[in-house]
Amino acid sequence: MTPLLPRIEAAIRANGPMPVSLYMLMCLHDPQHGYYATRPALNADFTTAPETSQAFGELLGLWAAHEWREMGSPSPFHLIELGPGRGVMMADALRAARSVPGFAEAVRVALIEASPVLRAEQLRRLNGWSVSFFTVIDDVPSGPAIILANEFLDCMGVHQAVRTADGWRERQVGLRDGGGLRFGLGPPVVPPDDVAASGGEVEWAPALEALLVSIAHRFRAHDGRALLIDYGPADHAPGDTLRAFRAGAQVDPLAEPGACDLTADVDFGRLVRLARLGGMSTFGPVRQVDFLARLGIAERGQALAAANPARAGQVAAEIARLTDPGQMGERFKAVCLAPDGASTPPGF
Ligand code: SAH
Repeated sequence: MTPLLPRIEAAIRANGPMPVSLYMLMCLHDPQHGYYATRPALNADFTTAPETSQAFGELLGLWAAHEWREMGSPSPFHLIELGPGRGVMMADALRAARSVPGFAEAVRVALIEASPVLRAEQLRRLNGWSVSFFTVIDDVPSGPAIILANEFLDCMGVHQAVRTADGWRERQVGLRDGGGLRFGLGPPVVPPDDVAASGGEVEWAPALEALLVSIAHRFRAHDGRALLIDYGPADHAPGDTLRAFRAGAQVDPLAEPGACDLTADVDFGRLVRLARLGGMSTFGPVRQVDFLARLGIAERGQALAAANPARAGQVAAEIARLTDPGQMGERFKAVCLAPDGASTPPGF
């Protein structure tokens, strides 16, 4: 039994069954027993793109530097990362982008990170750079900003609803007879108008709406770009996609609360619709393979292999993992948001 389970059971006993979104938040973010607070070595349970190859963060850094120049090289400007994990992507990005004249002097790194353990790890890895931490993006001081996020949106808590004979009802987490947790149906619920159903199920992340409102607000006052990379379908609503991972394997999301990573697909269709409603220009979603290919990942891989021939085979395998449609190349998508009228960024 995980230490979080009795606390979730007690909360349900006191308040009744909880929405899936609240269950996800408790499992991921409980400051004592939550997943992110207790697992600084994140890549034991999943390996993200920046953890796979340094080329990923480097190309994103060069992308950011390109867009910074496109924005007129503002100094200072905020380079904001949402959910930086162990800080690997930002470290690789800054190392690559510092070759662009003026970038290193202008950049103020702003990290949006919930986990104190991960904040410490990020600070250590970004030693030498001007780094500030914030809990939410609205707290980052105003000014031009480039926002980067990889595998951040998929850990937002999702509400789920199921179509029944008498309308939509919320999926909830309740108690199983004899101990443990089970899914059940709660009261009637009205899903937001703009969420599409998939096979009698709908799923939506309220935090996604809030994030897009924040970004739209920021981009109305100052120039900026947001590059969001995550997984999910480009052309249909996700439906029920809540999944749990432990040690690389998919497990029951209710079995070990706090001990496994919980994720849900990103609804890119809705993301783009909401961004446009907020007055932003949107680019993509494009498949990760296309995005990285256009940024020159093949050439970057060759350079890395040439610099260290003993690792050439490994470098090729890492890049294949990022780009093969059967691995991360197809499932992962990149989308860019910008103030209305921005020109198409590289990769799209
Ligand atoms: N981007 C990293 C890590 C992805 S894991 C990578 O690609 O390797 C998700 C990250 O987002 C973790 O750092 C987690 O602590 C953070 N996070 C998740 N939800 C958050 C929230 N609501 N506010 C701030 N940080 C959050």
